[in-house]
Amino acid sequence: MTVAVVGGGAVGLSTALALCRRGESVTVFERDALGSGATGRAAGLCYDAFADGVDAGVAADALGRYRDLDLFEPQPYVWVARNEGDATAVREQIAGMQRNGVAVKALTPTALGDRYPALDTSGIEVAGLARDAGVLDPDEVVATLAERAEENGATIETHTPVSLGSPTSVETADQTRAFDAVVIAAGPRTKSLVATVGVSLALKTYRAQALVTEPVDATLPSFYDATREFYWRPKADALLVGDGAHETDPTDWNPDADAEFVTRTLDRVEQASALTPACDRAWAGLCTATPDGAPLAGQVADGLWVATGWQGHGLMRAPALGNYLAADVLNRPNPLSEHLPDRVDPTRFDGSEEFAALDDPTRDWGG
Ligand SMILES: Cc1cc2nc3c(=O)[nH]c(=O)nc-3n(C[C@H](O)[C@H](O)[C@H](O)COP(=O)(O)OP(=O)(O)OC[C@H]3O[C@@H](n4cnc5c(N)ncnc54)[C@H](O)[C@@H]3O)c2cc1C
Repeated sequence: MTVAVVGGGAVGLSTALALCRRGESVTVFERDALGSGATGRAAGLCYDAFADGVDAGVAADALGRYRDLDLFEPQPYVWVARNEGDATAVREQIAGMQRNGVAVKALTPTALGDRYPALDTSGIEVAGLARDAGVLDPDEVVATLAERAEENGATIETHTPVSLGSPTSVETADQTRAFDAVVIAAGPRTKSLVATVGVSLALKTYRAQALVTEPVDATLPSFYDATREFYWRPKADALLVGDGAHETDPTDWNPDADAEFVTRTLDRVEQASALTPACDRAWAGLCTATPDGAPLAGQVADGLWVATGWQGHGLMRAPALGNYLAADVLNRPNPLSEHLPDRVDPTRFDGSEEFAALDDPTRDWGG
């Protein structure tokens, strides 16, 4: 089969690699440089801490693939709640995760403080600790996936923006090329690309921000504060801290972080730890959202597939969903949960749905 994959981010490259490994002839078209979309701007958190069984299965598959590619760096993940409502939710999540066999446990604030003295645990009601979590380096992910895809026969055309002439033909600046199948993994642009062939996606775009601090002298886990709604991960000898999301127009947005985001985020780090780091660098990127928080990954027309709507979790799931999509394109058995196809079916919406992208951008999809 000849397959075009539009988008050279983690999802497009994972799909391309999985298709090549199954012996298909794959061309990746990337408008800019590989990883220039959300992938290259991601924090790199990667964990299996999902209370829903389908999500946990996808995460376990993805983590295994990242481990096989030597891209997964173990790093415990702690998430905390500061009020009774959030604490109840965290306890329920932990119980659900344990039922899925995920290596998590609840920690009291005292136990958390003993383990991580640099954390200020005052005001924390309960914490969850996921032991098998880790972090990824997005640039390494992109480079490795691209290298493996090329080794397996893929052609990668960068700086080549495309549009669709039909569901199975791709138009570059100077030619139209026909394929047996086309997979659009173009982030927020997926919506406008498939709109030209009459497919309407229930997809919204929001802008998320992150910063890296100057070096800090502390041993900390990856961390998510469910009450204050921000996260960090250790990155080399510094912290990468993120939140600050708001809905935006994917064609007109600011890739630089807002000054207000930087100030607020450093304040939050100071409140949650004994640290007072300065900001080294900060940026913004685009994430995609759907009405129910689950992605849009599957067939939308004869010969045409989409993969988008990751709700801020696309990097950590890319290899699992890429492999799933490859099987779907080739009409082979679904390698993941039998419930996944319905969960991610892009045609479960007709595209006319009214919804707010940021009702809860950090929720587990479907969870
Ligand atoms: C600040 C921030 C932090 C994040 N942190 C995490 C995290 O810790 N863990 C996690 O799992 N996820 C995280 N995410 C989300 C994650 O980055 C995305 O879900 C994921 O990268 C999506 O990958 P993708 O391949 O679908 O899209 P993208 O990486 O956006 O790739 C789409 C590609 O398509 C290309 N393209 C678009 N239009 C065209 C066209 N017409 N022709 C050719 N190419 C085109 C773009 O240039 C782009 O390279 C974060 C996102 C942001 C912004």
